Amino acid sequence: MRTLVRHGRVALAGSLQSVDLLVEDGRIAAVGDLGAVSVDRTLDATGCYVLPGFIDFHTHVDDWIGPYYLADTYGTSTRTALENGITTLCTFVTQGPDETLLQAMATARAKAEGYSHCDVLWHLTPTTFEAADIDRLRVLAEGGYRTLKLYTTYKAAGIFASYDRIESLFRSLGDLDLRFLVHCEDDALIEAVDASGLDLARPVSHARLRPEAAETEAIRRVVDLAVAHKAALHVVHVSTLKGAQTLEAHRAAGDLSYETCPQYLFLDESWLDRADGHRWLCSPPLRANRAPFLELVRTGAADIIATDHCPFCRQDKDTWDRTDLRQVPNGMPGLGALPHLTWKLWQDDPDHAALALATHLSRNPALRAGVGDRKGTLEPGMDADVVILDPRGPERPLRSSAADTHEAFPGFTSPLAFRHVLLRGEPRVQDGQLTSPRDPAGLLLQPPPATLFTH
Ligand SMILES: [Zn+2]
Repeated sequence: MRTLVRHGRVALAGSLQSVDLLVEDGRIAAVGDLGAVSVDRTLDATGCYVLPGFIDFHTHVDDWIGPYYLADTYGTSTRTALENGITTLCTFVTQGPDETLLQAMATARAKAEGYSHCDVLWHLTPTTFEAADIDRLRVLAEGGYRTLKLYTTYKAAGIFASYDRIESLFRSLGDLDLRFLVHCEDDALIEAVDASGLDLARPVSHARLRPEAAETEAIRRVVDLAVAHKAALHVVHVSTLKGAQTLEAHRAAGDLSYETCPQYLFLDESWLDRADGHRWLCSPPLRANRAPFLELVRTGAADIIATDHCPFCRQDKDTWDRTDLRQVPNGMPGLGALPHLTWKLWQDDPDHAALALATHLSRNPALRAGVGDRKGTLEPGMDADVVILDPRGPERPLRSSAADTHEAFPGFTSPLAFRHVLLRGEPRVQDGQLTSPRDPAGLLLQPPPATLFTH
């Protein structure tokens, strides 16, 4: 099957070019003036940008977080993703207290396989680190699982890793083609906060319980360790100017990257002070003064914009006794809003915005996830994940999740219209709707672990 995308402006090598795009057998076959070529199907991209499929580098779906089940399944989340141009969903497999990492991976695979509308890639969150576990992580890393997630907080949830633990992992696994994703909030500084002076009935106190200093201290510590041990580090959901500046200052010294999320750019602490402010509880918390951080991100600083999509259902979010906000699960949805809010960062200059999407939502996340050889650009040979984006559609409200969640960005609208989205060459979305909702065609991008262990 040969498909030609014509009359669009194609994001290629950091610029927009008025060229045709030929897709064959699921891959980009050629780019250029291809007027005479014979094809089976032509897609008209007049007035549109033609961009590489987007990647949400950071989502939580179809899993338990403590006692709460996330409302989005692989089916609902990947549908929301694809209808908004996201052709690869990166999400987490977290090893639970009573299972091995391989068991957790098998569970996630069973939930995703045959239900996913876009491609899926897993970041692994191991929680046991015996010698045999480390050996298994080496095999997984060599087999295509190129990202490990670690947390400098959340002791009660059993996922906390001390700085000593992080250093020993950097030391024992740092030689692999493996990136360490770290949630940076210093647990000791959070523990040291005196809650007795806070009104815990008010959700805004959440911001005092998890102060900016906790994030910036953890980033400083983890960056130093990564540089010392030459480990590739990616700091997730950076929410502070100081944290981002620490990472920027050390870029030349190591393989460092970071992401931020739309909630830290478009929402601030005042949302926690609303009557329903608990719905915006997340960690790190929304911050008081987002303007200087927003300004830095608008220079193109953060490698990746990702959501930390965490779709707790309405009931779980709302069921607390209104005396202690620490009962509220931390996280909010964002998946369906990602390209729209990223666009808004640069909307005054649409060409710049289109190229920024190609960088921060496609190329950079593909590289950091270890799939830069097949995803993230529209060069010949790459998977034909293609977004044909009309920037002048009717303004519509954002919808972060199709599941039963509170909308994280109420009142926000976007003119972006997804005229076509191709997944590995097949048009799967037309005018913002799945073309075959009963035929999920997403691939699991990494091999089943069983194929990696021969004994
Ligand atoms: Zn997260």
